[in-house]
Amino acid sequence: METSKPARRRDTEDRRREGLESKVEGFNERGRKAVRDRKLHDSISLFTNKTLTGRNAQLGAHPDAPELRERAYRTKQETMANLDYYLSQMADAIEERGGNVFFADDGEDVVRYVGDLARRCGAKILAKSKSMATEEIELNHRLEEDYADLGLEIVETDLGEWIAQLAGETPSHIVGPILHMNKERITEILSGVSDEDLPPDVESLAAFARKRLREKFLNADIGITGANFGVAETGTICTVTNEGNARLVTSVPPVHVVVMGIEKVIPKFEDLSTFVQLLSRSGTGQKITVYTNFITGPRGEGELDGAEEFHLILMDNGRSKLLGTEYEEALYCIRCGSCLNVCPVYRQTGGHAYGSTYSGPIGAVITPLLKGDKEAKDLPYASSLCGACTETCPVGIPLHDLLLKLRNRQVEEGMAGRAESLMFKGFERTMKSPVAYKAGAKVGRLMQKPFAKDGSIEGAPGIRGWTDFRELAPLAEKSFRELWKEGI
Ligand code: SF4
Repeated sequence: METSKPARRRDTEDRRREGLESKVEGFNERGRKAVRDRKLHDSISLFTNKTLTGRNAQLGAHPDAPELRERAYRTKQETMANLDYYLSQMADAIEERGGNVFFADDGEDVVRYVGDLARRCGAKILAKSKSMATEEIELNHRLEEDYADLGLEIVETDLGEWIAQLAGETPSHIVGPILHMNKERITEILSGVSDEDLPPDVESLAAFARKRLREKFLNADIGITGANFGVAETGTICTVTNEGNARLVTSVPPVHVVVMGIEKVIPKFEDLSTFVQLLSRSGTGQKITVYTNFITGPRGEGELDGAEEFHLILMDNGRSKLLGTEYEEALYCIRCGSCLNVCPVYRQTGGHAYGSTYSGPIGAVITPLLKGDKEAKDLPYASSLCGACTETCPVGIPLHDLLLKLRNRQVEEGMAGRAESLMFKGFERTMKSPVAYKAGAKVGRLMQKPFAKDGSIEGAPGIRGWTDFRELAPLAEKSFRELWKEGI
């Protein structure tokens, strides 16, 4: 049935409200719903299979791969051990070139800095390129609310991010923000903001987006970007994109603001050769992405382009408390998205089920670390612990080990359910005592009888959630010792 445009807009508003109110809590409920969504699975498979094929061709079998990965890991390790030094080196380099640097403790600080800057500049249109750091702190939404009197129009200019913004949704993947949408849904969203119904073909949709976004680039007062990497020795911000929108965002508006997580700093310019290669090969399966931009402060004398005013915001937002802990390796992430693509859980549920900016294995690790175990308590369990994430990670983060550590931490904090704790305590005692073990086996054989069907246990209370999807063999009628005694 045709949906009228006002109805489409209402739908968009509802989704927007839902998206903004989403919480990390409730992964299990959202995940259950998502696994039944066939369209979602088709869209996820299309993107992840293509990306993984490319990744495997460029990195998997590449003779340089182990060395690149090792070098990246060591560089990150060394950087985190001296993070304060490298951040202040980077800040000095940028200030020497006439840029401004601000250290933000949290999202509030970032919002206040950007909002006050917009007020001072009399800004109306803020054009953004893709930035997970700003998604993490809901910068757009918070600016619109806290600085409502300025009437700011904040426009995402990455095509996927723009479509997600129009639909009132959050990105569902670090690299492919709208991989969960099919062409029909995208046509519907773009037609909803067009004067006419657009045809569902990629060229027409892209041409429409290009025309609309060009108007925003040309009229933007402030450009906001993230940073894939920040180089300490030169103060260079490196952004890696395929659409060229970051170039326009950083060179057309008179003011450029970079919001960068403090963990994105790397020591030397030459380190970029390691990280840019790993990011493009792992993230999109390309040897190198189409646009690799290097920006070092505001436009210099005699330079033809670049913003007149440059601001770098170095955002902590919970990162520094991980330094020197057993979770520090989570800060090595370069947001390539490869662990999402290989994860059997992500591939079934998609990113929105996680309810957080970061999804997949890295989301399941970093979200409880940044937001707290309580709100994200389901996420460390959103893993089969198969280790595919660790194997694919280009910087060697032991993701499945970190997930296990987070599960342990929840148990130590007393967050496990009472029934589960009692069950494991009982199991421990039984396994430690031969008498209890023998008695337990006897009781178990009796209790399993109503649930043992066709060689497996089905529907037993307490473990039904597990056995609904897996085979559990019943206890044998006689133990090995009993058979041994009988001489069989
Ligand atoms: S954890 Fe590793 S694989 Fe996952 S997004 Fe980060 S760098 Fe990529």
